[in-house]
Amino acid sequence: MIFRWLGIAGIELTYKDQVLLIDPCLTRIPFWQVWFGRLKSDCSLLARLISRADHILVTHAHYDHLLDVPELTRATGAQVYGSENACQLCRLDGVPPAQVHQVQPGDCLTLGEFTVKVIHAKHRRIPLFNAGRLSSGLKPPFTAQQYRLDACFSFWVEAGDISIFDNAGSPPELAEQAEFLCLQPYYAESYYRQLCEQVRPKVVFPNHWDDLWMPLSQPARPYFLPPQLAFPPLRRLDLAAFERSLQRIDPRVRVFVPERMREVPLDALMQV
Ligand SMILES: [Zn+2]
Repeated sequence: MIFRWLGIAGIELTYKDQVLLIDPCLTRIPFWQVWFGRLKSDCSLLARLISRADHILVTHAHYDHLLDVPELTRATGAQVYGSENACQLCRLDGVPPAQVHQVQPGDCLTLGEFTVKVIHAKHRRIPLFNAGRLSSGLKPPFTAQQYRLDACFSFWVEAGDISIFDNAGSPPELAEQAEFLCLQPYYAESYYRQLCEQVRPKVVFPNHWDDLWMPLSQPARPYFLPPQLAFPPLRRLDLAAFERSLQRIDPRVRVFVPERMREVPLDALMQV
């Protein structure tokens, strides 16, 4: 299985002749537009960077996960799997209903070469982004706030004899054992500990840590944390501290920070 990190929470998994994407969002939206504009996919960028997709999984309906899914679905003919809101936004954006599939926690899907389990996750609260049902009368392109969160999922994916747990904030007791764990580096160490005890990963990929206001052409940098009443008030997320946390939890676990768009053969990574 080949792994490619697409930036933000985007992951591409290739096994044999099949490509599965999770949360592919490559288009970078400028800061002002997220608050005051309507969001559009960069179609030529997508055509250049994603040549094929068979299955697209969406953890939740926020724009930084869903924005590029309709265009990728049109360009590749892939099938999409997500929550009610994610599915509805895809259909409103012109994806043929036959390609859109609503899923829920507990579902186990066979998608070509891949087996996928859908697991409940809990999204952090984001100020000014209300969760709930979609507003009525939505027309694409949507504003950032119209990408409204309903359910949120983690995905356990297996192909060949390799499995990956793509965590989107699942309670540790619901997580599944996997060799690879994709993990957002913004939780408490006690959460990582509980999650790692359950997943028992060999390799952890930090996920959803790059600054999404910066263009894809620039090197990935960690995003700014919310301002704090201390010095310095603005600081970027500390990936090295995340790595040290995981080393304290289990020194055998390897934290691997992938380069965006770089193919990583997973079986080779397990043997190092
Ligand atoms: Zn989100």
